[in-house]
Amino acid sequence: MTDIKPTTYRGRFAPSPTGEVHFGTLVAAVGSYLQAKKNNGKWLIRIEDVDVTRTVKNADRDILNTLEAFGFEWHDEVIYQSEHTHYYLEALHRLNAELLTFPCTCTRKQLTKTNADIYPGTCRDKPAPKHYDYAIRLMANDTEIIFCDAVMGQQSQNIKQQCGDFIIKRRDGLFAYQLAVVVDDALQGITEVVRGNDLLDSTPRQIYLQQLLHYPTPNYCHLPLAVDVTGKKISKSAGTANIDINIKEKTLCDVLRFLGQQPPAEIIESNIHDIWHWAIKHWQLNQIPQKRHITQIQNTKHV
Ligand code: GLU
Ligand code: ZN
Repeated sequence: MTDIKPTTYRGRFAPSPTGEVHFGTLVAAVGSYLQAKKNNGKWLIRIEDVDVTRTVKNADRDILNTLEAFGFEWHDEVIYQSEHTHYYLEALHRLNAELLTFPCTCTRKQLTKTNADIYPGTCRDKPAPKHYDYAIRLMANDTEIIFCDAVMGQQSQNIKQQCGDFIIKRRDGLFAYQLAVVVDDALQGITEVVRGNDLLDSTPRQIYLQQLLHYPTPNYCHLPLAVDVTGKKISKSAGTANIDINIKEKTLCDVLRFLGQQPPAEIIESNIHDIWHWAIKHWQLNQIPQKRHITQIQNTKHV
């Protein structure tokens, strides 16, 4: 008899199909998966191909095949953002109706000339342009967004002062990641977002959008980013970060250690299912470090 009660926990993994699976991709996948499993919840996959200009052909298949080879099991059909334009449009219409948006015709060049990191509100009060060559920005109100990240602790950001009016639909007609991710997290009923630390900064904008759209705000948990010794995010070209499926047991153990877990050394000899079994049973969120160096990743590639 187990005393595990069913919960309504819904987590997700939302990779962008922009290239090969690398160590950082796997960290986000493993972290979100174990949180979902530990909470007896569901784990969903969403392919974030909203920016179709960055989509690499077959990268989605490559990601899903790698996940399958590692023994991940997901709930429901995989969702593709490129098929969700109508949902984003509907959200945009709701924001428009509340006069929270405005067209922006500023070029990058004009904006860099103003020398401001934050959009200075140039187009806020301009009449609507007669052409369609513009981006759509969301008005940033003087609102303080405060949230407590499960790993990074208390965070706060003033949307107006620290972020400014931000783009929700791009000049090229594509919806911005910030809007798409918020709509999809709500649509999929996500209760906790577990992802890489590079998105910690985006979270206040997402919570702000959730509030304006009357969506619930999920919990957030930002995992350490694999950075090199200079502090830069490791890139897919950094050979050490590529995933070799032939040594998946070792790779999974490396990811677990990267996330502060302590799998026993001899477990590498077991099969992947036994490692998962150990990992779910022993998963401890409070062991996740806030920062990690690439040097701490033990060679995931054959030497
Ligand atoms: N698609 C994003 C990425 O691959 C992740 C977005 C998210 O998890 O919210 O970096
Ligand atoms: Zn403008």
